[in-house]
Amino acid sequence: KRFEDCGFAPELMRAIAKQGYEKPTTIQCQALPIVLSGRDVIGIAKTGSGKTASFVLPMIVHIMDQPELQKEEGPIGVICAPTRELAHQIFLEAKKFAKAYGIRASAVYGGMSKLDQFKELKAGCEIVVATPGRLIDMLKMKALTMMRATYLVLDEADRMFDLGFEPQIRSIVGQIRPDRQTLLFSATMPRKVEKLAREVLSDPIRVTV
Ligand code: AMP
Repeated sequence: KRFEDCGFAPELMRAIAKQGYEKPTTIQCQALPIVLSGRDVIGIAKTGSGKTASFVLPMIVHIMDQPELQKEEGPIGVICAPTRELAHQIFLEAKKFAKAYGIRASAVYGGMSKLDQFKELKAGCEIVVATPGRLIDMLKMKALTMMRATYLVLDEADRMFDLGFEPQIRSIVGQIRPDRQTLLFSATMPRKVEKLAREVLSDPIRVTV
């Protein structure tokens, strides 16, 4: 399998090549075509598998495919991750590919000034990568609206549950329109995560590496 088979635009192909990604990893081979088709996906994969690009690349395509959303406000892609370290890594990966299109990405997590984050979100972005607690804070402060969010990723869902973020995740999902694409990634699938997946994903395809 090759990135060329994914139908990516030349700018995105150039950005992929610039990262030195020669061919898709196993999870990317399996997940990319399904995510690009618009289906919901449960991805059972660990860090190091290349799972981040398997949701970031289709997110760029998703955003570019929604010109009618461009005039509205708020992120189109929303990614939740358990820790600030992971959120930051995902943010860096998203920026690599977003830059070529002028798509703006913001990272929102604890340990950074709430006022600075509020201002950054108010300035506008198409992608937000966040830890659940801080995203809730920003939503309460009305730093952003979820009205155009149509692409939701819950990354390392099992770790988010371990850290006690289930109520925050449920609150965030409840604030995002139902006509969205939802992706859930997890290294393991305990019963509670399985239950969340059943409730918030629609007819998902399961991909395991
Ligand atoms: P992840 O599992 O998403 O954290 O990715 C692990 C590492 O693999 C990161 O440093 C990525 O930049 C890198 N990576 C992701 N996809 C590819 C690929 N197709 N070829 C080479 N490296 C990759």
